[in-house]
Amino acid sequence: VKSTLEPVRARIRQVPDFPTIGILFYDVSPVLRDPETFRDLISSMAGVWCDARVDLVVGIESRGFVFGAPVALEMNVGFVPIRKLGKLPGETVSVSYDLEYGSNVLEMQRDSIQPGQRVLIVDDVLATGGTMAASAAIVDQLGGETVGGSVVIELDALRGRQRLEQANVPLHSLFRY
Ligand code: AMP
Repeated sequence: VKSTLEPVRARIRQVPDFPTIGILFYDVSPVLRDPETFRDLISSMAGVWCDARVDLVVGIESRGFVFGAPVALEMNVGFVPIRKLGKLPGETVSVSYDLEYGSNVLEMQRDSIQPGQRVLIVDDVLATGGTMAASAAIVDQLGGETVGGSVVIELDALRGRQRLEQANVPLHSLFRY
């Protein structure tokens, strides 16, 4: 598995001072440009959870869509988006969480999860874990059971893994920095 993923790692670009001074941004766009590399990444992400009896993949706007939707197809389960406030029609449930400065609101459609469904949550990068923890909280509100969080990149120093442990959400990352 390791050797298959080396081309993925090679295509992850680190951009200093984006979007603001002092942030090292992990840009996954170059991975998407190469179908073989992209496909290997998706197979690895999906493969990790093949015995977890996942019913549904939830992707977090917006880079979580790029990875979550193909992971769902690979696992032969449905895909559901978690979006920023005001983007989804129909009845929704929302959760608000704190960012370093200010706060953010995430929303899901109320009928998107059936009670008891086993959910895998996908995003590109785990930093503080706030976004993933809020996503698990909203899945919980809808009666779903979060079986895990799956990300391409985990930023160790920000201790998102510990935060998710407290929320009882197992985490898998393909790469740790
Ligand atoms: P957090 O809630 O702190 O775990 O932040 C995770 C969310 O912010 C994810 O949706 C990421 O796409 C994005 N993000 C946070 N930090 C970075 C980073 N250094 N590079 C790329 N994306 C990031």
